[in-house]
Parts: sequence; C-alpha cells; structure tokens
Amino acid sequence: MKIRDLITQDKATLSFEVFPPKKDTDFADVEAAALGIAAFKPDYMSVTYGAGGSTKGHTIQLAREIQEKYDVPTIAHLTCVCASKEGIKTALADMKNAGIENILALRGDIPKNYDGQVFAEFSHASELVELIKETGDFCVGGACYPEVHPDSANKHEDIIGLKKKVDAGCDYLTTQMFFDNNIFFNFMYRIREAGISVPIIPGIMPITRRVQVKNAVKLSGCNVPERFKSIVDAFGDTEAAMRQAGIAYATDQIIDLMANGVKHIHVYSMNKPEVAAGIQKNLSEILKI
Ligand code: FAD
Repeated sequence: MKIRDLITQDKATLSFEVFPPKKDTDFADVEAAALGIAAFKPDYMSVTYGAGGSTKGHTIQLAREIQEKYDVPTIAHLTCVCASKEGIKTALADMKNAGIENILALRGDIPKNYDGQVFAEFSHASELVELIKETGDFCVGGACYPEVHPDSANKHEDIIGLKKKVDAGCDYLTTQMFFDNNIFFNFMYRIREAGISVPIIPGIMPITRRVQVKNAVKLSGCNVPERFKSIVDAFGDTEAAMRQAGIAYATDQIIDLMANGVKHIHVYSMNKPEVAAGIQKNLSEILKI
C-alpha cells in the first residue's frame, strides 16, 4: 500500500520507525524488536538507512519481513550522499523486488572518516526524489525541519530548499523531532504560505532515557522546553519512571497535535516495542475517531 493513499483517507494514522543494526551480529535482536512493533499492527512502519549505504541489505530485509509477516506497509529510507546513480538504481530495483512501494528520499549526513567524494553525483535529496520518480512507481516521502536544517542559513532559505524537494515530486514530508508543538504549528504556517501543500506528518520522539536528550539535541539541534527539562531532572535517574514520563509527554504532544487538526503521527519508536505499545495504548480511543 502506498503511504500517499493511506494519508489521504479520512482515518487518523499512527506509524512507528525502526532502525537496522550497524553490525550483522546484532541483526537478530533488531529483527525481533521490529517484528515485535509490527505485531501491534500500526498503520505503517519506516525503516531507516545508513548514509552511504552501510545498512542497505538490513533495511530492505526488515522492511520486507514486516510487510510479509504482519501485512504492515513499510517505507524504506534511502540516502544519496556518497552514492552513485547506478548504485541508487540498483537499490531501487532491490526494494521493488522486495515488494517495497514507499521510499523516504534523503540526502543523509556525511559519514565520518569518508575519504571519497561525498556529493559526487547527488548534492540534495531533491535530485534523489527526481531519480526515484523517473525510475519507478514509488510513493516518495522527504524530510523537513520545523527548527531549520543546520545547513540552511535561515528559515527562509530552508523553505526554499524544501520547496525544491517538494516540486521535484515528494508526495509527503515527515518532520524532524520537536518537543514544543508551537514550533510545529509555526512551521506549518510558514510552509503553507510558501505554497508547499503536500501532507506533513509530525515525527514525535518519546524520550525514555536521560541520555537520549543529549543525543536528540546533538542530532537535530531541537529546542528542549523547560517543562520537559524538569521531567528529565525529576525522573531521569529511574529507568521505569523516566520511561513512563517520556511516553506520557509524547502522548500529550500527540493529543495536542490531533486536537488541532493533525491526523497522521509518526513515532520515532527507536526499536523499543514497549514504547510503541505505550503510545498506542494511550491513543487507542482517540485513533478510532
Ligand atoms: P536535503 O533535502 O538535501 O536538505 C539539506 C539542506 O539542503 C537543507 O538546508 C535544505 O534547505 C537544502 N536544500 C535541499 N534541496 C536543495 C536544493 N535543491 N537546492 C539548494 N538547497 C537545497 N539520515 C540517514 O542517514 N538515514 C535515515 O534513514 C534518515 N532518516 C531521516 C528521517 C527523517 C524524518 C528526518 C527528518 C531525517 C532523517 N535523516 C536520516 C537525517 C537526514 O539525512 C539529515 O538531516 C541530512 O543532513 C539532510 O537530509 P535531507 O534529505 O533533509 O536533505
């Protein structure tokens, strides 16, 4: 099933994300976690991709297994930094053969210690979107950044880059994580003003361990509201309490988004079935409306 068809229906959707392991030896654990999340039958799941192609085989395998074993549609992420057009075409053919119909087209972050040419054949995700659209009948998603991508000089420049990606053929966009919904609502206003009209799916990250806050800020540069800092200060040293508080905070964010007209929510569930289960349970009645 194509995600663009799912998210244009009237029904609200909840989706989860998993990431493949860096090491082959960790595959069995990640596979068990991903299938554990698929067993909750979310509306769809996404599987991330190691920039430079390091996880290609595992990304495809997880996405295929989730679909075949649980009938949950999947999106395979695909990055184009350090990639050649031929390599991307091969990856797309492999994805198509595995029954994958949805791709999240990304530039990717520059891998550390890479000694080849990073932007040899692709400079931006928009070029990848164009190639995917030419190559096959995939539904193509892209990433967007309510708090501005670090490579953009300002909000205006960020939206110009985003518009180019959407004009290249993105069917929808998923946001980087954010912890303050006002930032998302403000972003929505700005992109709609700029003529970007594709569906936008907010990405929500439940923080269930203190260390994740530091990682999240490092990865995305996102703002951490005082209210959330207090939660981490109070519960961050007790694993079960922080998990409960993190799931509650994410649930609260989602309920506020849905109360303000957002229908589709993507959760960065980080290979944690207990987190996906907690969020899904908290929203069970709301998702029926
Ligand atoms: P782009 O869309 O290329 O944007 C990068 C910068 O270039 C922005 O400043 C943008 O404004 C500008 N720009 C874009 N197009 C143009 C253009 N045509 N002309 C001029 N400027 C332009 N990383 C991974 O390695 N694997 C993953 O699986 C992964 N999944 C992700 C999922 C989501 C939802 C998000 C939000 C991010 C994900 N990332 C992933 C991280 C992502 O790869 C990085 O944030 C990366 O630095 C940018 O990728 P992008 O596709 O947004 O780039």
